[in-house]
Amino acid sequence: MQLQFWGAARTVTGSMHLVHVGGRRLLLDCGLFQGPRKIAFERNRVLPFDPRSIDAVILSHAHIDHSGNLASLVKGGFRGPIYTSAATQDLCRPMLLDSAHIQESDVKYVNRRREAKRQRPFEPLYTSDDVEATLSLMQSVPFGQPFSPIPGVEARLIFAGHIIGAASVILDLSEPGLGLHAPEVRRRLVFSGDIGRTGMPIVPDPEVPDGAEVLIMESTYGDRRHEGTGEAKEALRRIVADKIHDGGKLLIPAFAVGRTQELLFRLNQLIEGGELPRLPVFVDSPLAINVTEVLRRHPECYDAEMARALAEDRDGDPIGFPGLRFTQTTEESKSLNFMDGPMVIIAASGMCEGGRILHHLKNHLGQSSTTVLFVGFQAQETLGRKILDGVDPVLVFGEPYGVRAEITKITGYSAHADHDELIAWADGVHARGTLQRTFLVHGEEDVAFKLAGDLKARGMRSVEVPARGQVFDL
Ligand SMILES: [Zn+2]
Ligand SMILES: [Zn+2]
Repeated sequence: MQLQFWGAARTVTGSMHLVHVGGRRLLLDCGLFQGPRKIAFERNRVLPFDPRSIDAVILSHAHIDHSGNLASLVKGGFRGPIYTSAATQDLCRPMLLDSAHIQESDVKYVNRRREAKRQRPFEPLYTSDDVEATLSLMQSVPFGQPFSPIPGVEARLIFAGHIIGAASVILDLSEPGLGLHAPEVRRRLVFSGDIGRTGMPIVPDPEVPDGAEVLIMESTYGDRRHEGTGEAKEALRRIVADKIHDGGKLLIPAFAVGRTQELLFRLNQLIEGGELPRLPVFVDSPLAINVTEVLRRHPECYDAEMARALAEDRDGDPIGFPGLRFTQTTEESKSLNFMDGPMVIIAASGMCEGGRILHHLKNHLGQSSTTVLFVGFQAQETLGRKILDGVDPVLVFGEPYGVRAEITKITGYSAHADHDELIAWADGVHARGTLQRTFLVHGEEDVAFKLAGDLKARGMRSVEVPARGQVFDL
């Protein structure tokens, strides 16, 4: 029995862990590595194993850094089942098709330059046909219900909080002992997936798994504390109220999945509760529109706050309110440039690495009446991180733009547990008394090592930060 780390090892993205049991291979997640273009290009294209050698996949949740390279796996010959929750399966259609679309247009851009240099054109990483083939391999499993992805493994999904459909995975592994009369070897391995915040709206709080002996745990915010969810709501109210007062535009770069719906849920509360007057709010992301539809279809993934809001909301829609508009077409999106404020524009991508937010930034970064509000994690080297760090001018579509807009952030909208919440979750697992070994993944290197130190200081034995490719006997 072995565990091998192939992604999100000493970095945040590209989640991919391989479990070897009884001669078979089970892959946990197959995410896209997002980072410097050259490295990402190689890393995503060349999988570190033969896709045909994988027997099954379990997918923790729909975010692209966990699901986004499944289509490469299928393109490379993988034909086994991909197990995940029903909501994740539903989310994967718009998200992976959107990702294929980005891959196809990215490569077009690169190929134009290669053509000019008379170089051979690249193929896209994968296409929408590869995504369709991937979706056809997905099988949904209800939360809490045991299933057997491969012989020798019994698995179960539990709620991870984070986003709709997100799971932690409990895996009971067994294989014959080595000697003739050697007893069967058994291990309970738990993969945290991405751990959400306690008290986040819409999704339930993360569940603490029982009886974990080996733990793979995320560490994204292992060195930071977020504002409380109540403080975040008040900060949002204040920033929006200021914009109404001064008549400018409020641009919110937001992940289409999770963050956008959470913002709408809070704006709905503030507007319907009379704490904010009605104002135009535009969700300028076709993907966010599709994702919001998926959310409406999966009440089995709601927490009590969302269920109550659903029952009590004035128009029966806790993420819809008067003044909210979804812009589907490019023309509708462009027309926002010519409208006068006050207004809120929520657009992807959350780290300003692509999507319609780039057009809004290009047009409004130079205006002092605009406020850009960051509500999510900004990875190193991304445009979002540069704007937030005060770089001026910044490059948008390769051109320099001066920054006159007010730049601000709210940390309480993170879909990830912060340092204290990660510690509390790990304490919960450790308190069951079975834990022998913990591997920290999905965090920048220094952050993961810091969290490892903090966990050891609390009495957890053997906390490691595996490097990419490292393999461990279980
Ligand atoms: Zn995630
Ligand atoms: Zn993630």
